[in-house]
Amino acid sequence: MSPDEKASCNPDDRADGLEVQGMQASTWVIAAGRNRVPGAPLNVPPVLASNFYLPSDRLYSRTNGTETTDALEEIIGGLDGGRALVFGSGMGAAAAVLDGLPVGSTIALSADPYHGVAGLADQGVEQGRWSVERIDMADTAAWVDAAGRVDLLWLESPANPLLTVADLPTICAAPRKAGNLIAVDSTFATPFVQQPLAMGADLVMHSATKFIGGHSDLLAGALVMTDDDLYEKLAYRRLLAGASIGGLEAFLAVRGARTLALRMATAQDNAMELARRLDAHGEITTVRYPGLPSHPTHAAAASFMNGFGAVMSFDVAGPGERADQVCQAAELINHATSLGGVESTMERRATIAGQETMPPTLIRFSVGCEDVDDIWADLEQAVKHTA
Ligand SMILES: *Cc1c(COP(=O)(O)O)cnc(C)c1O
Repeated sequence: MSPDEKASCNPDDRADGLEVQGMQASTWVIAAGRNRVPGAPLNVPPVLASNFYLPSDRLYSRTNGTETTDALEEIIGGLDGGRALVFGSGMGAAAAVLDGLPVGSTIALSADPYHGVAGLADQGVEQGRWSVERIDMADTAAWVDAAGRVDLLWLESPANPLLTVADLPTICAAPRKAGNLIAVDSTFATPFVQQPLAMGADLVMHSATKFIGGHSDLLAGALVMTDDDLYEKLAYRRLLAGASIGGLEAFLAVRGARTLALRMATAQDNAMELARRLDAHGEITTVRYPGLPSHPTHAAAASFMNGFGAVMSFDVAGPGERADQVCQAAELINHATSLGGVESTMERRATIAGQETMPPTLIRFSVGCEDVDDIWADLEQAVKHTA
């Protein structure tokens, strides 16, 4: 598919059942990015070459990507309704956006963003490159106000690890300062759960390390946009910063993405059921999952998300050490950071650098695709073990 065809996905067509170029998105994610020519391999191979025979438009993989990165970009771009650029990590993608801002820019950032993004923003402030105001993701009026004033709105929704959901349709439709950008870190949601470009955002960012890759075996990031000038600008930043993805990682990300629809459906169903059960458990004090009516941003989430994602956080009764013990006592659920894999993971967030202000007993739980009753049995035994 040519870049022009990629750009032709019309965001206006994407409000209802998620379709990509006349097929369901769940079909697209399997069908896209293939070279349907007799004799060509069914799966795009991992192209492990930095340079290519000339004359050709494809010179060097940092400059032009490869057949493998093209496939990944076609898949992700189609899902989000725009043109995708893939990066060596989610942070590589985030840095490309921030580093492209003119000196003196103003940024509105979520109050508790991903700690790496917070670090980038803070460093730029120290260097006098831009100013940053922090806004609670749930404070829709403040975001709407910021849309009329600042140069970059960086929203993360659902946000890490309180699962706050921003009212994206309202914020993205707000009157805007001319030329500014609304970027949404949609890592926790994936394109199957929310469509920020269709709501009026300019940029979607994913850490494809998480759900899109889906197997905790690679680092990858993506930016998706519909504006061609923005695409060219960010592609050039990626080239200059050397933030390209490796051939093997791109291959693994394509392979992982093939099952994204299946994995999200299973993981979300599991998460909803486990959130309900945890909510009713006597030793669990708080469950934060946007699918629960008790979540502060449930109404916003229910108004535009297709499901509620597969990440939640909960508190165990007792001191912070008990949360560590629960994570250690788990036998099926993996005691590990990160999220979005087929395997369930959990960790006590307050022990993570930059997250010390989180409630001490908060456990972030990324629900995988194991059988829901097996996951539940493990949670029950781990909590009981530490009673
Ligand atoms: C993991 C993550 C990132 C950073 O992505 P990497 O692939 O680890 O560089 C950014 N935002 C969110 C919400 C994340 O979970």
